Amino acid sequence: MGAEELKASVIGEIDARRQQLSELSLKIHANPEIAFQEVKAASWLTEYLKENGFSIEQGICGLATAFRASYGQGKPAVAILAEYDALPKLGHACGHNLIATSAVGAGIAAKLAVDRFGGTILVIGTPGEEMEGGKVFMVNRGAFDGVDVAMMTHPGVRNTATVHGLACQTLEVEFFGKPAHAAARPAEGINALEAMIQSFTAINSLRQHIKSSARIHGIITDGGEAANVVPAHSAGHFIVRAEDDDYLDELKERVINCFTGAATASGARLEYKWGEVRYSPLRNNLTLAQLFRRNIQSLGRKMPLFDSRVSFGSTDMGNVSQLVPGIHPLVAIAPVNVLGHSPKFASVAASETGTRGLLDAAKALAMTVVDLVANPEIVTRVKEEFKRGK
Ligand SMILES: [Zn+2]
Ligand SMILES: [Zn+2]
Repeated sequence: MGAEELKASVIGEIDARRQQLSELSLKIHANPEIAFQEVKAASWLTEYLKENGFSIEQGICGLATAFRASYGQGKPAVAILAEYDALPKLGHACGHNLIATSAVGAGIAAKLAVDRFGGTILVIGTPGEEMEGGKVFMVNRGAFDGVDVAMMTHPGVRNTATVHGLACQTLEVEFFGKPAHAAARPAEGINALEAMIQSFTAINSLRQHIKSSARIHGIITDGGEAANVVPAHSAGHFIVRAEDDDYLDELKERVINCFTGAATASGARLEYKWGEVRYSPLRNNLTLAQLFRRNIQSLGRKMPLFDSRVSFGSTDMGNVSQLVPGIHPLVAIAPVNVLGHSPKFASVAASETGTRGLLDAAKALAMTVVDLVANPEIVTRVKEEFKRGK
């Protein structure tokens, strides 16, 4: 059987599992678990993979809900990544139930390709995507050693084979002032809240003169205790994002200058701590993206290689894509006016269009695995592009 016939077989395999995959997706959707607590999702996904002949390693990289499922042996080793964490209060408003289910569906269908041409198919369970950076830990702890290609899809409101993922890092800031009666003895107080407000003002001024793709945003988490007491403590949580690592480093310094300036002006003492996890920018491997695009388009879903209208934040897939060639296409499941991380997006993630997106994503991923295992020269091209871009 040649590659094209095999693609027809993997499509048939996924269609035959439509009911099972949709049930699995809805089950995860109905039992939302936030970052690093995805116990049920991880066990349902690995059970299904195990029933279908995969060997499972659970709790890899010191993360209880991370897993690696593998089938076959030798090269190439193609990994399909599953995310399955939900958002606090909002449930599956990022549609990770669809990502997880399409990944296992693709992995199981891709067994046919590995049986025919050799190679290894891996389904890697990557917990804690939402701001916890699960993949950052997994990259650092060797989860992707020996992996040749890493692919995942994400549901969205437009179809696109490549996306911009910004480098980003979180920042915790505190100011320590001195309490005083706000009316009787204001001259004796040092106002930690004013220092925080000054910092926001300085950042707002800075924002006019930074690259348009960069982002700085934050909230105040402590602004004092009572209106009649000069606030002795204030705290805030910020995120700084930039298109590349160098610009992120530059911006980080400029943002800290805003806080130190406010500390000097107010007399409050500044303490800050950058988040342990730093998201890398997403590198899109165009050779892979073109293969994926051709495959999904053959299913009747139009997908441009680039779409400048697509807005996107940051993803820990960025860190994976810096280590091995990867893609992170978006598969549309909702109209463009539906916002990600909204209750509406959560309901679409459990709808018929959500399931359709899941099935198309699974098919196109599995078909791309067929391309890779059947054509070693394509894997070479993918890797050459990756090396050139570094
Ligand atoms: Zn997401
Ligand atoms: Zn999200």
